[in-house]
Amino acid sequence: MTRTRFAPSPTGELHLGHAYAAKVAYDLAREHNGHFLLRHEDIDSSRVREIYYSQIEEDLRWLGLNWDGDALRQSHRQDAYRDALEILKQRGLVYPCFCTRKDIQQSLSAPHGLTEHIYPGICRDIPASESAQRIAEGDAHAWRFNSNLAALIHGELSFHDLRFGKTQVNPDANGDAVLARKDIGIAYHLAVVVDDAFQNITHVTRGDDLLESTHIHRQLQAVLGFPEPTYLHHRCICDENGKRLAKRDDARSIRTLREQGHTPEGIKINL
Ligand code: GLU
Repeated sequence: MTRTRFAPSPTGELHLGHAYAAKVAYDLAREHNGHFLLRHEDIDSSRVREIYYSQIEEDLRWLGLNWDGDALRQSHRQDAYRDALEILKQRGLVYPCFCTRKDIQQSLSAPHGLTEHIYPGICRDIPASESAQRIAEGDAHAWRFNSNLAALIHGELSFHDLRFGKTQVNPDANGDAVLARKDIGIAYHLAVVVDDAFQNITHVTRGDDLLESTHIHRQLQAVLGFPEPTYLHHRCICDENGKRLAKRDDARSIRTLREQGHTPEGIKINL
């Protein structure tokens, strides 16, 4: 049974880029008589606004992109994320990171600095006794994935994308990414992997701007013993200048288009 999902964050109005992402997931599920699910990715409570849950649902219904069952909220799934993180801790696959943004920036501008978004590993080799003491003293910390150690355990990995074919997983693609943020105790990569498994998602569809994330998602699936979904990284909807649409592009919000008299059919045909 094919199961897909649309996973917006209730931090703004749906725009054409979201409508396209939702339509891709919807069409793929319907094509195979499968299920299309909705998940609100609302872990970052500082950015979430209550109003957007209902607006997103209303816009999807108006577009005729009805989902099956109840929408899942990531904010209700903290226990599941904690359990997954605990497993990774016990297996030594995550380590506490006490760095501030400034520490990381300074290290990256040093001569040995690596690619901008790749963590330079400052806290990777802090002895366990020392980090345990710092945690006990209340030193704020995130948890980072030890991606190269994980690679030694899971060995060669790949993923299959319906558009791009087979890709070999590169453990360095995201470096030691944060799996649990200092402020909210969880981060996108771990939450999305735990929930895709929980919701039995067979086909993960999302914009190709997230293609790189799939490398770490496959690693996490492998070490947590989750099934491997098929991927479809679709194109992102861009504006006239080729820039990916973002939440601030209010002119293209579904709500505005609807108020301007556009129809759901008209919008979907033009996506
Ligand atoms: N919440 C993510 C977004 O809005 C979706 C990520 C995903 O589909 O994995 O881009």
